[in-house]
Amino acid sequence: MKALLAVFCASIAWASPQPAAAWGDDGHKIVAMIAEHYLTPDVHNTVIALLAQDTDPLTAHDMASEATWADKYRNQHRETASWHFVDIEIDNPDIDAACFGRAPLPPNTLASNGPSQACVLDKIIQFITEVEQPNTDPEERLVALKFLLHFVGDMHQPLHSSDHNDRGGNSVKVIVRMGSGLGQRLGHGGVSDFQSRCLR
Ligand SMILES: [Zn+2]
Repeated sequence: MKALLAVFCASIAWASPQPAAAWGDDGHKIVAMIAEHYLTPDVHNTVIALLAQDTDPLTAHDMASEATWADKYRNQHRETASWHFVDIEIDNPDIDAACFGRAPLPPNTLASNGPSQACVLDKIIQFITEVEQPNTDPEERLVALKFLLHFVGDMHQPLHSSDHNDRGGNSVKVIVRMGSGLGQRLGHGGVSDFQSRCLR
């Protein structure tokens, strides 16, 4: 399982160019599809078998769709909202401050039931640990994999991993010139997607 995560995370990291705009469902799906392409057959079979056990109707259960699950889950579980980002101040970077002091997960607590104040870096570590440990409850292992599919994508999205006293980019005003092909493309999802993904 450790090899599975290593390959999976490396694949996603490779697939995340810099700089990048905010991810919406399509962005997360693309990241997952590229990662899936680079999985070895054994790892791929393991991932698919895990996801096949999922009965949650929020998404379909292929890798690409499951990579969008955590955003939909967050809409119903606001206590997980902070898990999607790490607001590292550009002018005064402080990981501890950005990660709410980096308090460890309380003993005997599932990562999916952890405190609301945790950053994406620490949640990724917690969920990797759960996927690796052989005694993890099967339901929790599945949820951990679904969070990982999403959070590794989030972590490579600059507006989810930096801050400039602007609420992770949410306070930045964007001027969009309309009347061109670009404006039409933005009107068909570009701006709305950007805004929706920035909102936490
Ligand atoms: Zn997210």
